[in-house]
Amino acid sequence: MIAATGVWSDDMSRMLNDVGLRPGLRVRASKGVHLVVPRSAIVGETGLILRTATSVLFVIPWGGHWIIGTTDTDWQLDRSHPAATASDIDYLLSQVNTVLDRPLTTADIEGVYAGLRPLLSGEADSTSKLSREHAVVEPMLGLLLVAGGKYTTYRVMAADVVDRAVHRLGWTRPSRTADLPLLGADGYAALWRDRADLARRHGVAVGVVEHLLERYGNLTLDVLALVDADPLLGSPLAGAPEYLAAEVTYAARAEGALHLEDVLTRRTRISIETSHRGLESAEHAAELMGAVLGWDAAARAREVAHYRARVEAERESQLMADDIAADAARLGAPDVRGFAADRGSGLPAAPR
Ligand SMILES: Cc1cc2nc3c(=O)[nH]c(=O)nc-3n(C[C@H](O)[C@H](O)[C@H](O)COP(=O)(O)OP(=O)(O)OC[C@H]3O[C@@H](n4cnc5c(N)ncnc54)[C@H](O)[C@@H]3O)c2cc1C
Repeated sequence: MIAATGVWSDDMSRMLNDVGLRPGLRVRASKGVHLVVPRSAIVGETGLILRTATSVLFVIPWGGHWIIGTTDTDWQLDRSHPAATASDIDYLLSQVNTVLDRPLTTADIEGVYAGLRPLLSGEADSTSKLSREHAVVEPMLGLLLVAGGKYTTYRVMAADVVDRAVHRLGWTRPSRTADLPLLGADGYAALWRDRADLARRHGVAVGVVEHLLERYGNLTLDVLALVDADPLLGSPLAGAPEYLAAEVTYAARAEGALHLEDVLTRRTRISIETSHRGLESAEHAAELMGAVLGWDAAARAREVAHYRARVEAERESQLMADDIAADAARLGAPDVRGFAADRGSGLPAAPR
């Protein structure tokens, strides 16, 4: 078994401790907050990297927006819903404003998001295999843990841990990860070249096909097949005209989306790309998802009400001065999956 559980890794460590085993690695959660502002808010063509007192700040052009981030502070509260505070937001604005002619204010902010980095805390033990910033450990026969690393190193992490598992199984074949195209990559260049033709054949604008190709690669053909079957799905999503209604249907049919927030905050970025944070898209998206997932009127209303509560709780948390108050405000909206709040690992320090 391989566990790649990010900031939840220490839960596994606790279970290993309970049976008298040394886990070999520990992870600490570091909160990173980003702001999203419209492209018009900053005059400029290229991204910026600024040096701050403790780290760096990125200002990155992203579609019709800029992303400004990030913070880096320890987080010991609810790991499922880390909350950005007013202090995080003020810090980011004050840093970026040191180099802008027109200072940004909270009125410029379209979206705010917070995530947790799983950082290795301390050295992994001698049985571990350290590579860059991640570690692979084998605290007991048949169980491998991998943690740390970055998005940009995920293939190295995967190859390291899978090679180790394969070795345990007595196989010698080397990892093929580096040669496997990502989902949607196969034939992408030809589709991009022929995008005008693709648009004509499916009766949509070329800009729509470009947007779909950038999001789905060759799976664009599956999204366009939905539009062929029901031309209404080729119309824009309410409140987020850069997305097609078909993308919501596709998320429920093919991308495992079960709740409104899966679509508005994860499969798409509508919750951080619009100043209404997805509220103006919620009803329409619930209709589209409901048609796939069999939601009746009551289920649709529940999903919309939950999403509304989530946005309100996030907005409230972002007015709070510190993590504890922001976490309490964020927990005002229960998890849509019905999970109890996750109060950090609550672990005694696991021996290394
Ligand atoms: C604000 C921020 C900015 C970042 N910027 C960058 C960047 O610019 N470049 C970069 O390369 N990286 C960046 N990162 C780091 C990157 O996001 C992480 O390093 C990466 O997501 C770690 O991947 P992971 O798979 O180890 O853990 P995660 O992505 O945390 O995944 C762990 C998964 O395990 C699941 N899980 C937990 N417990 C269980 C269980 N018991 N059973 C089943 N599943 C379970 C969780 O649901 C989760 O999906 C950033 C992170 C943050 C927060």
